[in-house]
Amino acid sequence: MTDKNCVFCKIAAGEIPAKKVYEDEKMLVFRDIEPKAAVHLLAVAKDHFKLLSEMDGERAELVKYMLCKIPEIAEQNGCKNGYRLVINQGEDAGQTVFHLHIHILGGEILPW
Ligand code: AMP
Ligand code: ZN
Repeated sequence: MTDKNCVFCKIAAGEIPAKKVYEDEKMLVFRDIEPKAAVHLLAVAKDHFKLLSEMDGERAELVKYMLCKIPEIAEQNGCKNGYRLVINQGEDAGQTVFHLHIHILGGEILPW
């Protein structure tokens, strides 16, 4: 499923540019346009769904797939000493793009 108004669906379709660091048939990883750490990547499933709370069995498999891929991608992109994963759920968390994504933050010692 894709949403024609969704910025991450547009990136996945190649309709708007992004600094991609990894892509396969299920997921895409690219650099955040407004990085909050020395390394700030976004891991996005190609299947569009908005929120962690919309998780079902199939989507859980997709998120599991991404979580299994992320360590190698993070280490290859400047996060050898560790990194933090963040999923913002909803407005109180400041979610601005409603297409589920995992932030990968690292490349420096991160304040909590
Ligand atoms: P969230 O607040 O969890 O919804 O995070 C959305 C993230 O997407 C923010 O960190 C934005 O800087 C980032 N972002 C928005 N548009 C783009 C874009 N076109 N390319 C790369 N990152 C983007
Ligand atoms: Zn989308």
